[in-house]
Amino acid sequence: RLEIRNLMRSFGGRRVVDDVSLSVMPGQVTCLLGPSGCGKSTTLRMIAGIETQESGSIWVDGEMICDSNQRVPPEGRGIGLMFQDFALFPHLSVAGNVAYGLKGRASSNRERVEELLSKVGMLAHIDNYPHELSGGEQQRVALARALAPRPRIMLMDEPFSGLDDRLRDDIRDETLDVLKAEGTAVLLVTHEPGEAMRMADEIALMRKGKIVQRGAPYNIYNTPVDKDAAGFFSDIN
Ligand code: ATP
Ligand code: MG
Repeated sequence: RLEIRNLMRSFGGRRVVDDVSLSVMPGQVTCLLGPSGCGKSTTLRMIAGIETQESGSIWVDGEMICDSNQRVPPEGRGIGLMFQDFALFPHLSVAGNVAYGLKGRASSNRERVEELLSKVGMLAHIDNYPHELSGGEQQRVALARALAPRPRIMLMDEPFSGLDDRLRDDIRDETLDVLKAEGTAVLLVTHEPGEAMRMADEIALMRKGKIVQRGAPYNIYNTPVDKDAAGFFSDIN
């Protein structure tokens, strides 16, 4: 379970993340949805630990991992990342990429690698190299790699952009299945209302650094908090 409380961050005197609080339960997907520049990626980067917050705290499974006094480094947070530029290591095979973050015995690692590659439908490509794979196939391997160390939390920043429509729908659905089966708490950033409607258990609507509305997708869709929110949802495909 991920919980963030009262997160704040400014750049050059401008507050880009303004008192953001959120929680995500295991096996659930929360979508942070909002227009370009509203502070989504900055929020995610603070949770990942690759950006520092001015104030506020971050909790994973009831354990505080960051506030103004203490700070667990990114690799100690039990958080997996999948960003748009998910680049695989070109010099490592598919198996090598997925095993990269794993510690422990080679034989048990191999088991985990095979389990995940079969979940994402890439087991047949275990000995291939990234340049031998299509963009969508690489994305599946990247998902397996992010999941390999069993992160309790997965942060995803527009991970499906750059794929053609049909492939994106397929990979979205498969990704959801795998994350739900693993019981991962997912915070997914998107600026597309349609994607949030499709993927989210809960949507947090963000605007100018603030969460302006939170709720189940159809509640937000049916009862938008104001005219701007209504407009934002009106062009869903
Ligand atoms: P997009 O949908 O376009 O990715 P976003 O919601 O992810 O947008 P952020 O990347 O969080 O937006 O940026 C929020 C604001 O903070 C933007 O105005 C951006 O220019 C500014 N910003 C982000 N990082 C920095 C930085 N390192 N230095 C200065 N300004 C920054
Ligand atoms: Mg962004």
